Amino acid sequence: MGDSTKTRKYLLQEKDIPAAWYNILPDLPAPFPPYISPATMKPITPDELAVIFPMELIMQEFSPNTWVDIPGEIIDIYKLWRPSPLFRAHNLEKALDTPAHIYYKYEGVSPAGSHKPNTAIAQAYYNKKAGINKISTETGAGQWGSALALAGALLDVDIEVFMVRVSYDQKPYRKFMINTWGAKVHASPSNLTDVGRKILAENPDSPGSLGIAISEAVEVAAKNPDTNYSLGSVLNHVCMHQTIIGLEAQKQMEMAGEYPDVVIGCHGGGSNFAGLALPYVRDKIKGGKSRLKILAAEPSACPTLTKGKYTYDFGDTGEMAPITMMYTLGHKFIPTGIHAGGLRYHGASPLISLLLVNKIIEAAAFDQKPCFDSAVLFARTEGILPAPESAHAIQAAVAEALDAKEKGEKRVILFNLSGHGHFDLAAYDAYNSGLIKDVALPQSSIDKGLESLPDVK
Ligand SMILES: *Cc1c(COP(=O)(O)O)cnc(C)c1O
Repeated sequence: MGDSTKTRKYLLQEKDIPAAWYNILPDLPAPFPPYISPATMKPITPDELAVIFPMELIMQEFSPNTWVDIPGEIIDIYKLWRPSPLFRAHNLEKALDTPAHIYYKYEGVSPAGSHKPNTAIAQAYYNKKAGINKISTETGAGQWGSALALAGALLDVDIEVFMVRVSYDQKPYRKFMINTWGAKVHASPSNLTDVGRKILAENPDSPGSLGIAISEAVEVAAKNPDTNYSLGSVLNHVCMHQTIIGLEAQKQMEMAGEYPDVVIGCHGGGSNFAGLALPYVRDKIKGGKSRLKILAAEPSACPTLTKGKYTYDFGDTGEMAPITMMYTLGHKFIPTGIHAGGLRYHGASPLISLLLVNKIIEAAAFDQKPCFDSAVLFARTEGILPAPESAHAIQAAVAEALDAKEKGEKRVILFNLSGHGHFDLAAYDAYNSGLIKDVALPQSSIDKGLESLPDVK
């Protein structure tokens, strides 16, 4: 039976939207390694980055300031869906029969259905302000492409999206969404770029990859002075824009009268994890919360943080993007096919990588099948049908809650529900038909990927 006195969600008002993003750079426990230019193999200069990024975003990428004000125009757009709700997962707790308290911050309320518009809006805004009216980008399953298309529609910027071919063919709905918001979308590899033509010449049936699509989008931006490039994850400024999630969550956890013992996010390139986690990392480094566990959940089919190497690598397959110090499986690594398309990136955010190697945060890898089991349990208890990416965070939270039960501990767990799965229903159909399998990743694939690492002195 229900209890009408218990609180299910903690809501902020529009006026409570944080006025500044949190930049963790000045608080890091170790110096941030410079980015290396693929052209010179020397530390990259702002001028080189200015070929594809507006100066304000380059300044944010390396900013020494702890707080970066969010322009009023961006806050005004954020109000279309922010502040996002924080839920207490009472029903899931009951189903697990756990003494743990489980909270989740829900980013699926954005028009694109994920956390990605938090940075898409900011990036389109700073480009527009710099006089750039065209942005090229890549997208895997279409989450980022649709988020940037939304931003382009709201801020009047033309968006051109290179979409990984398998997704373009098999998951057309996000493509339709991108078109509806007025942006262009091409299957990648395409005939529109040198790198695309080269890959098609070698393999006309190439299914594409995120690394290839990034190379195509970067090439378009590098060759056209009126066009910039935009990346949906990984980079410092992207992680910083996403901290709006954690900053709101901190206020909401205060409303709930609890402080988390464990903070969890799924990890592809690192942005939604960073978004929730970085404000809590600040508490851990500077606020006396040294025992706080902060956990990144990744798929075992693309185990960048748990099986990759911490070293310099290219951000893309075509070797055009900056070389950064990060956990990586090698830029030629080809992940096995899983439904969580957004978690199939070979590398990781340099910021998150630095925090992991310094043991401020932890990482764990999860198989696909238990993630779907937990996602379906979540849908049947809390109602929301999660994105397959977010299912990894749910699975990590469920594992924590069951561990707390075994130990008889009241543990407070907070995770980021980064998006809904309404465009991933084919994956749920496969699950319902018993077709979701764990996909083993042979050690030879990892070894082969790591052979492609560049030699940076
Ligand atoms: C893109 C995406 C991710 C993975 O990207 P990160 O940069 O690691 O956050 C996770 N969840 C959803 C819903 C996504 O769309």
